[in-house]
Amino acid sequence: MISVVKVGGSAGINYDLVCDDIAAVVKAGQKVVLIHGGSHETNVISEKLGKPPRILTSPQGFTSRYTDAETLDIFAMVYAGKMNTRIVERLLKRGVNALGLSGLDGRLLEGPRKATVRAVENGRQVLIHDDYTGKVEKVNTGLLHLLLDAGYTPVISPPACSTAGEAINVDGDRAAAMIASALGAKQLIILSNVPGLLRQFPDESTLIPHIRYSELEQALSFAEGRMKKKVLGASEAIATGVEQVIFADARTSQPIQAAMSGKGTVISR
Ligand code: ADP
Repeated sequence: MISVVKVGGSAGINYDLVCDDIAAVVKAGQKVVLIHGGSHETNVISEKLGKPPRILTSPQGFTSRYTDAETLDIFAMVYAGKMNTRIVERLLKRGVNALGLSGLDGRLLEGPRKATVRAVENGRQVLIHDDYTGKVEKVNTGLLHLLLDAGYTPVISPPACSTAGEAINVDGDRAAAMIASALGAKQLIILSNVPGLLRQFPDESTLIPHIRYSELEQALSFAEGRMKKKVLGASEAIATGVEQVIFADARTSQPIQAAMSGKGTVISR
């Protein structure tokens, strides 16, 4: 069985605890594919480099990072560079045969680049043409199986690969959903700095323990900001055959085993 785990990139995530748990799960004989984020660190480094992040909001209310060529360089330096390297290092120290790669490597994560991006700024719709973003539609599962069968634990980060071979920024949660369904995984675990989907963010006592696929549309109304994309990713995963998506807390010990036992928000048909 293959477990697909996505760990976010927001402030407060404890990567040591996540990697401890991956090591435990791998030692128990599970194959794990890890996808990670890097949004907080990208914001910090972007500020330091004098290129503060610009967040776009779509007419539907979904947010994304404006990614021109210069931002993509910073994005790749942080995601495929610093974040990926340090996660691989943590896993190696724990005896896991981790192998880092971005979605660009071997066209691991592929999809069309958006020709234009529609955004709402100051109440007006604008069209953006120089955004290097897109959506993963194809996963190179052959490459993943090759690595897994050879005993490696793949550690995957955006950017992905456009159809034309360009590096593009893609949403990590939705990419993880595509990986889980392409590998035929039963479960997708999405770890973040919240215990799950909260009915009244940020009140953690309002955690929603279970959501049915048919209720996801309604659940979208509780989600603010980047949480909306997670709900969308969950919906895409279930629609393409994943049985369970679990939103769980990456700040606690044994976050993956806790999620596997149903702690967090469990989404299923
Ligand atoms: P990551 O980078 O870890 O993948 P994101 O920052 O993209 O995570 O998304 C998680 C964030 O979504 C939380 O830190 C929280 O600020 C925000 N959020 C918005 N609405 C909700 C909600 N209803 N329940 C939980 N979190 C929410």
